[in-house]
Amino acid sequence: MNVQKVGSRGYVFTFEDPYKLNIYVIDGDKHTFICDTGFGSDSVNQILDYLKEHSIQSEPFVVFNSHADYDHVWGNHVFEGSDIIAHELSPEVFQREGEEILEKYGEHKKGEVILTPPNKLFKDKIVFEDEGIEFYHSPGHTLESSSCFDHREKILFVGDNIESPFPYINFLNLKEYATSLREYLTRNADIVISGHDEVMYEDNLIRENLHYIEEIESGKVSRNNFTPKHLGIHFNNVKRLAELYKEEGEKSQSIRFFQEALEILEEAERKPAIEEEMEKIRKIIEKL
Ligand SMILES: [Zn+2]
Repeated sequence: MNVQKVGSRGYVFTFEDPYKLNIYVIDGDKHTFICDTGFGSDSVNQILDYLKEHSIQSEPFVVFNSHADYDHVWGNHVFEGSDIIAHELSPEVFQREGEEILEKYGEHKKGEVILTPPNKLFKDKIVFEDEGIEFYHSPGHTLESSSCFDHREKILFVGDNIESPFPYINFLNLKEYATSLREYLTRNADIVISGHDEVMYEDNLIRENLHYIEEIESGKVSRNNFTPKHLGIHFNNVKRLAELYKEEGEKSQSIRFFQEALEILEEAERKPAIEEEMEKIRKIIEKL
């Protein structure tokens, strides 16, 4: 675990196993705010030990879940008895996929995990006025995705709404997603913290992610300067959108995105797995 001080009262705890993940802690006047809880009790206990050692523990804790994906909530149970704040759609996600995901990604578990949904829900926001802390709904990466803004320090924590190089699209909510990213820019944050990137001291990545979401929504993403990493994420996003539109019965949109997925594969080096995938997509398009 790596610890980085951000501003005068923020700490970013970064874990690298099984992959990079940030947990953001704010040493408030009356509360210690814990933004996301990581891969299980071990993630949280390492942080609690650090806070104790450095005399920055000032209970009561207020826990915030940026969204209900497992890597952001598996340490919730350690804070049983504390307020665990999240958007009102969050408990449904726990109920719908909590157990299944726990099984599927069990090897990512660090220490103990007892699925514990949030117990204090908001629709738009919860503000701790005298602490200068705001938790608010900012849908994008998921429908319940929410953010934390420290007004005193101008530090914005965005969960997985921002990712390098591209965000992952999971829902047909691109307009909403773009609105959330535009809102971020109006905050004029000095520091931006996301779930899986380095701490950012400028808002470039917000702008780049916004540009990408706008382009993909309008259906004209230029792939000219894409690295293989860009292309890989973009392919997944395009295919996901095609499938989502198919589920919604929006045929022409679905075909459009399946065709782009096919184009990307046609430009790739021909390997048996790629040929196979191309054949699958051609069959889906035929049937549509
Ligand atoms: Zn995540």
